[in-house]
Amino acid sequence: MTGLTEEQTMMRRSCRDFVDDVVIPFIRRNWQREWDMKPEGRLPDDILTAADRIGIRTLGVPEEFGGVELDKASEVRSFAIIAEEIARGDSGLADKLVQNWKVSVLLRNLAPRHLQEKWFARLVADPQFLLAHSLTEPRGASDRWLPYDVPDAAMQTRAVRANGGWVINGRKQFISNGYDAGLYVVYANTDPKVGMTRGTSSFLVPRETAGLTVARCNETLGCRYMNNGELVFEDMFVPGDHLLVEGSALGKAGVYFQPGKIIQAAKNLGVGVRAFEVAADYAQNYVQGGRVLIRHQAVALRLADMATRIEAVRALLERAAGAADEGAANADTLCNMVKLFASEEIMKVAQHAVELHGGNGMMLDFGVEKLFRDAAIFLHMDATTDISRFKIVKSMFPATAGTYAGPE
Ligand SMILES: Cc1cc2nc3c(=O)[nH]c(=O)nc-3n(C[C@H](O)[C@H](O)[C@H](O)COP(=O)(O)OP(=O)(O)OC[C@H]3O[C@@H](n4cnc5c(N)ncnc54)[C@H](O)[C@@H]3O)c2cc1C
Repeated sequence: MTGLTEEQTMMRRSCRDFVDDVVIPFIRRNWQREWDMKPEGRLPDDILTAADRIGIRTLGVPEEFGGVELDKASEVRSFAIIAEEIARGDSGLADKLVQNWKVSVLLRNLAPRHLQEKWFARLVADPQFLLAHSLTEPRGASDRWLPYDVPDAAMQTRAVRANGGWVINGRKQFISNGYDAGLYVVYANTDPKVGMTRGTSSFLVPRETAGLTVARCNETLGCRYMNNGELVFEDMFVPGDHLLVEGSALGKAGVYFQPGKIIQAAKNLGVGVRAFEVAADYAQNYVQGGRVLIRHQAVALRLADMATRIEAVRALLERAAGAADEGAANADTLCNMVKLFASEEIMKVAQHAVELHGGNGMMLDFGVEKLFRDAAIFLHMDATTDISRFKIVKSMFPATAGTYAGPE
């Protein structure tokens, strides 16, 4: 990024050192570990402890609660810089950490003060403590933001008032950190008669809540050091003060979604940067046809294509992150654009990287295919590409885009 503040330059330096000294050597030495089918043991505790030591685990937590508070005027840009650096080392590790930042932003905006005190203290004290944000259900996810603001499209997870609190029944799927989080934000329908923008509420749900079952860990294609999980709620009671927003939770979560899209694109960029680094290194050292690869013009062209795509993503990311920090009117549109653009461009960058490695590009122990797998995840995470495109056009033409399909 251009024009970094002193704080951002320092944070980028310490993240880069952490990735070069700890994360990349760990990943290279332990390439089988991703495939350990016991999710608890996949990422050793000392990696999150080391992340904690450089102060990147509790970003977004207010300083008064012991967190690392970034300058608000450039907070989203700072998130982007750090997320990119960490994902350059490992995208799954970055996923684990960024959920903490994003949910912390939500909590500091929406949770009552005594619950902020309680949960921020737990998060700050325990380097392994993780947060999760649970929206997606078997019958609905990114499409929830389409204009179908009708009861039929509402969440199936239901919360009903009872005994001074709420009883929640339903399930959530594909939740980042869902398998091992200590605290969840859960969205549920609280008014089946209205559309989701008016009938969806959000709740804080501690892991130990009776009626909450962490049903399984999903074995994902990429980003495997983040344990993605499925949750089931059966007559789960949460006290009244655990309600974050009643009715308009989707709209109020805007404080989460703009930085969320930026962080998604930034992690994606980090994967692309790493793919370029390993490809450039290989092309300058591996000999085929009597010369190092880069001397072959077809190889050199691929590197140019990779670098151009990476720079284009970076440029849009800077612009969108700046718009989010400034609260610009087009921030939502730009945030969706960069999340979408990064996922498709970096997929292509990762494809070039594996192709430039030939057979080695397909071998698990060589490690390059991991970048290809990690890049593929971004096409599906935090909205599909089609839904993202639709959100973009809808934000530009709210009255007309996509309305033809309905009755006049
Ligand atoms: C690694 C990973 C981490 C994730 N983390 C989280 C998380 O932390 N929290 C969370 O809540 N969710 C999370 N998700 C879920 C993610 O947001 C959804 O997978 C994504 O939004 C797509 O929803 P879906 O899987 O239900 O696909 P579907 O909505 O079933 O989509 C299937 C296909 O249909 C299309 N489609 C669906 N509805 C429409 C429509 N109305 N109009 C046109 N086309 C449509 C889609 O574009 C897609 O091509 C995660 C997913 C992954 C893969």
